[in-house]
Amino acid sequence: MKRSELVNSLIGILNVKQIWDDEDSRRQFSQDKWPRWLFSPPDKMVDAVVRPENAHEVAKVLVFANREKIPVIPYGGGSGVCGAVCPDKGGIAIDLKGLNQIGPVLRDADSNQAYVIVASGVIGEALERAVNAKGFTIGHFPASMAISTVGGWVAAESSGQCSTKYGNIENLLEEIEVALPDGRIVWISGTRIKPFIGSEGTLGIITAVKLKVFPASAKQIFFSFAFNSLPEALDACYRMSRLPDKPAVLRVYDSLDRLFLGPGKESSNLSHRLPAHKYFFQQIKFWFLSKPKAVHAFGSALSRLPFWKFKPLLIVIFDEDSDSAAKEKIIHNIAWLNHGKYLGEDLARQWWRERYKLNFQKIEKYFQLGIFANTLDVAAPTDKLAGVYKAMMEAMSAHAVTLAHFSHFFGGRGCIYFTLIGRAKNKEASLRLHDRAWSAGLDACRKAGGEVTHHHGIGVAKLPWFEMTDIIRWEKWRKLKKELDPKNIMNPGRLIKN
Ligand SMILES: Cc1cc2nc3c(=O)[nH]c(=O)nc-3n(C[C@H](O)[C@H](O)[C@H](O)COP(=O)(O)OP(=O)(O)OC[C@H]3O[C@@H](n4cnc5c(N)ncnc54)[C@H](O)[C@@H]3O)c2cc1C
Repeated sequence: MKRSELVNSLIGILNVKQIWDDEDSRRQFSQDKWPRWLFSPPDKMVDAVVRPENAHEVAKVLVFANREKIPVIPYGGGSGVCGAVCPDKGGIAIDLKGLNQIGPVLRDADSNQAYVIVASGVIGEALERAVNAKGFTIGHFPASMAISTVGGWVAAESSGQCSTKYGNIENLLEEIEVALPDGRIVWISGTRIKPFIGSEGTLGIITAVKLKVFPASAKQIFFSFAFNSLPEALDACYRMSRLPDKPAVLRVYDSLDRLFLGPGKESSNLSHRLPAHKYFFQQIKFWFLSKPKAVHAFGSALSRLPFWKFKPLLIVIFDEDSDSAAKEKIIHNIAWLNHGKYLGEDLARQWWRERYKLNFQKIEKYFQLGIFANTLDVAAPTDKLAGVYKAMMEAMSAHAVTLAHFSHFFGGRGCIYFTLIGRAKNKEASLRLHDRAWSAGLDACRKAGGEVTHHHGIGVAKLPWFEMTDIIRWEKWRKLKKELDPKNIMNPGRLIKN
């Protein structure tokens, strides 16, 4: 169907003000925040963008697209970092931010669990503010809280910063409302939700979500410790994550990540208007980005010095202060068992204050300077984390300065979050170097028994490495895909390699 015909048909379904087909809008809604786009933007674009305002309008667009076999790409906040909203072959981007209602906090009569029903296009920060006003919290705090939507959290299998206590989005969900390609709108609960989690818009469009909420606490307890080695810090973390009264945040920084990006570290000021001496130091720093082996040798020498400030750092935060004396005793004991050194509360408090500091504008500036910066999340059972870290670090640090921290310790698993920064002689060479580091890391992850994603999803960035190893989970997804979307209009090309 020609673009003009498509737009005319959509005008018959929605108000003309809810439809865009200008090039800027089509480009904007064909990409997310995958940093690689900054060197090499996607070469395909959707044909039109629509913004429905309720589930019925979503369903009407789906019925039309299904009849005409037009691809549909659900678009939440566009904060994904793996290219999951990038169209394989045009189609309609459905911007879900028009679905923006937040219900009251209610309580289930049987379980006494408090919950809220929220439309899927609501931005996380707005939801948290709304439930805070009633004395509750959603307990889910991705660093992208201000730019991601509730529906996007489900479709991309998001994890928040307090996941050790609350779990990831899957643990917070009670029900979801989904508009299906045939136009039905259904509520799904229990284990039937599972295939929709991490489905990247391939089964239907999530239009509303019933989420648990929890009493908000006014006070927290903070700890920070340094350890002589990463395995000791990780061991302390596993033990703490298995306590019946769980910390909300457990985070281990390796020495280099602590030094460059850890709590209290201002990342580089990238302004062009720096005083001469600062500009000079900045240029030296940038030069070192093209010498990752030298940076890693320097980092490893520093970490061997007898100074706690160069050692792996563990941050522990409880998000309520009941039994604080007992908690303090247990946490100190576990750290002591692993030869940790208590560093006080300040670093943990500072991390909490800065927890949303990762700033996409800064990443954009790096790319303008010809420097790549990207993040790579992987997962592993806790007993394999150290091995996966070592293998990936060896593989990637040959190409890029590679920093890492560990977080999201729950259910016997943890996440390793790598930051890759590098530079070659020009943009094209930097892009090639980025791709080499990325591939080397994911190859090494698989070889060492890790899973190639934790909370960033698959998108296009990780698809070549993605394996549906959880047979039962993905069998259910395949069955539903065939049943619900036989014409494969829902975000085609995602999750399955063509
Ligand atoms: C600075 C920064 C920090 C981040 N920190 C975190 C973090 O701490 N934790 C974390 O988990 N993630 C994090 N992310 C990644 C990203 O925010 C998450 O993946 C988030 O869940 C994506 O939500 P979104 O609304 O932006 O979805 P989008 O990027 O718009 O879409 C993601 C995928 O979900 C599909 N989709 C979106 N909405 C729907 C819907 N209603 N129905 C069906 N499919 C849908 C899309 O088609 C796409 O496949 C971060 C990203 C950035 C840029």
